[in-house]
Amino acid sequence: MINLISDTVTLPGEKMKQFMMQAPLGDDVFAADPTVNELQRYAADLFGMEAALFCPSGTMTNQIAIKVHTQPLDELICDHYSHVYQYETGGFAFHSGISVKLIQGQHGKITAQQIETAIQPTADWLPRTSLVVLENTCNKGGGSIYTLDEIKPIKALCDSRGLALHLDGARLFNALVETKESTVEYGQIFDSISICLSKGLGAPVGSLLLGTKDFIREARRFRKVMGGGMRQAGLLAAAGLFALQNQVERLKIDNDRAKAYGSILSERPFVKEVLPVQSNIVIFELNERGSADKFLKKLENNRILASAFGPETIRFVLHLDISTEMHQRIIEILKTIDF
Ligand SMILES: *Cc1c(COP(=O)(O)O)cnc(C)c1O
Repeated sequence: MINLISDTVTLPGEKMKQFMMQAPLGDDVFAADPTVNELQRYAADLFGMEAALFCPSGTMTNQIAIKVHTQPLDELICDHYSHVYQYETGGFAFHSGISVKLIQGQHGKITAQQIETAIQPTADWLPRTSLVVLENTCNKGGGSIYTLDEIKPIKALCDSRGLALHLDGARLFNALVETKESTVEYGQIFDSISICLSKGLGAPVGSLLLGTKDFIREARRFRKVMGGGMRQAGLLAAAGLFALQNQVERLKIDNDRAKAYGSILSERPFVKEVLPVQSNIVIFELNERGSADKFLKKLENNRILASAFGPETIRFVLHLDISTEMHQRIIEILKTIDF
């Protein structure tokens, strides 16, 4: 089976597993796991930020960031496609007691102008806007990419209005291998950044939250209360370190393959629309109403697994467990499948 359901399905390779088995371990709740500390240091330095925190998931790093940046009765601004709104079980309300102001952006991307109009005026009866969350790449937007030129005006607005700016960078490296922008510039712009190690980077578990020392000190408390204080977590952190040191550059391969599938699909008569492919995600809509499940069955008969993203919408996600042969087979099938 060829699995295009998500880039979270990757399995750790032999070298990664060996690296994990050799990692020096300790108790990370006491900040005494040398491998967790090394990963956190490595990531913080990579982004030129003061500190980092290793967490079990990207949902947790996002939720902790929201919690630290806000007070109850505050409001955060994000695109209506955002993961923090769509796929984190409404955690912003549960953990932080805040509301959310949604913007209808372009493929999950919002502008400074849109944000400015979404900021609440000051009144007793209005929530207080305190945080903006951007997502790069944006999953539901078809893996769309922000460039720094688009982000800088948002940063300037946040500064002038006293808003915190958080980046859900679950797949940030898929963007950076395209734009060639630097991690350090990202570190300078955002108050906090979340990156996933368990997506295209190929680690089995884990995400990192980056920020100032004070921010991360607070974040540690919320990680603990959410039950995310792990003990000999260095075993997992080692996989993350291996991924960051060895598996970033190859993300370009995933992006290129996704683009190839996108252009084949856009020529096929059963496809109504392919969202612009900018990274490792391909989202496309079928012509026939309600036919996503039927199309998935057809793919499955050809030994390809993918997921429905709506009644007529299919998502492919590329990742490092797709071999060259599998890639060739996918191309073959997309070119010839009749539907
Ligand atoms: C996957 C993902 C996350 C975090 O997901 P977890 O499964 O909790 O690690 C956050 N944001 C985006 C955009 C994602 O794709």
